[in-house]
Parts: sequence; C-alpha cells; structure tokens
Amino acid sequence: MSEIITTGAGDRYHVTEDCPSLQAGRLGGEAQGYQLHDVHRFTSAAEAEAAGRTPCGTCVDASNG
Ligand SMILES: [Zn+2]
Repeated sequence: MSEIITTGAGDRYHVTEDCPSLQAGRLGGEAQGYQLHDVHRFTSAAEAEAAGRTPCGTCVDASNG
C-alpha cells in the first residue's frame, strides 16, 4: 500500500515525503519567503490524478522501476 503526497505548491504527486523534488520545492519556497503549503495525502495515485495531479518524475518513476 502506497502513500501519495501532494503539496499546495505543485501539480505533482509523490510517493515519499523524502522525495528530493518535493524537498527542493519546499526549501526553495521557504528561501523565497513563501509560506510552506500544507502537505496533502491521498490513498492512491488514481485519487491524486483525479484531483489533477501528475506523477513526480523523480520518486514515482523510480518506484515503478
Ligand atoms: Zn517526488
């Protein structure tokens, strides 16, 4: 069972909160003085895609092999 993570800042969904792209986006926003967006969790990738999110090229592709 996988956990799907999105943030208010991006159009992507991630399968791990440790994803470098996710971390870079959050740190980048913080550096620019933006408030960090809430992390949103979905129970499946299909649910995230239904919400208009697309797979993260870093962590989602890696998990699919
Ligand atoms: Zn990711």
